[in-house]
Amino acid sequence: VPELPEVETTLRGVSPYCNGHVVSQVIIKRRDLRWPIPDGIETLLIGQPCIDTCRRGKYILLIFPAGSVLIHLGMSGSLRVVQANQSWKKHDHVEIFFGEFGIRLHDPRRFGCVLWAENWRAHPLIKSLGVEPLSDDFSVEYLKKKFEKRSVAIKVAIMDAKVVTGVGNIYAAEALFLAEIHPRTPACELGAAAISKLIKAIQQVLNMAIDMGGTTLRDFVSQDGQPGYFKQRLNVYARAHLPCVRCQKPLFGEVMAGRQTVYCIKCQKMSLPRD
Ligand SMILES: [Zn+2]
Repeated sequence: VPELPEVETTLRGVSPYCNGHVVSQVIIKRRDLRWPIPDGIETLLIGQPCIDTCRRGKYILLIFPAGSVLIHLGMSGSLRVVQANQSWKKHDHVEIFFGEFGIRLHDPRRFGCVLWAENWRAHPLIKSLGVEPLSDDFSVEYLKKKFEKRSVAIKVAIMDAKVVTGVGNIYAAEALFLAEIHPRTPACELGAAAISKLIKAIQQVLNMAIDMGGTTLRDFVSQDGQPGYFKQRLNVYARAHLPCVRCQKPLFGEVMAGRQTVYCIKCQKMSLPRD
C-alpha cells in the first residue's frame, strides 16, 4: 500500500511534468475506480494550465484555475510519467497529458481515484483529514488536546487519520520504538515529554523514508517506473521474535486493532514519567 512517503515521492516525481504546463489531452480507459471518474472531466481539463501541485494526506492534488484534480493511489496504484503514444499496460486507466509528457495512473485493484473538486480544501475526502505529520500543526499542544480524553492505545490513536494523516502501521510501530513508548499505553497517559518524543520519532521515520524515496525518483519518471515501496531499515516492523536492535531481547508481536504490532517489552515502556 502506498504510504505517505511513497505518495510524497510520487508527487515530487510528477510535479515538474505537470506544474506550469497546459493539459493537452485526457484519456480515460475506465472510469470505475473506487469512485467513478466524473463525466466531463476531460473537457474541463483540456486547455487548462496546472498552476500548482501538492499533497494532502495520501491525496495528490493538481491545481487548476477552475478547480483541482484529486488523485489517490488506493491499495496498489502508481503514477508514472509517460511520453506521447507510449504503449498502454494492463491496468493503466487514466492519462493526463501536458504537451510533451503526461502522467498515467496504473491501478490493478482500482481502489484509487481521480476526482474533481472546485475547492479541494472543502472536499469531503480532504476536509476530514487530521493535520499533516510533517507540518508545524503537528505539535505537542495539538496532540495533548486530541489525546486528553482518549484511553485507546497510543498505537491506535496515532494511526487515526482524523488526528494526524499518513502515519501507517509501519511508521507507527517504528516511531513508537524510537520514542521508547509501549504501543498499548493509553493515549491520555502520555505527558508532554513523551508526546514530543513521539512527534520527533514520527517525523524522523517519515523523513527517512522520503529521503530514501528520493533515490528512487528516477524510477518514477522512467518509462517502466514501478512504485517500488521503500526498503527502509526497519527496527521492529515484521521482526517479531527477532532480537531487538537495542537490547537483543526477542521482539514481541501481537495483533492490535486488527494490525500486526511488534515491539520490545524491555525498551518500550508503558509507565511513563508524568509531566
Ligand atoms: Zn529492546
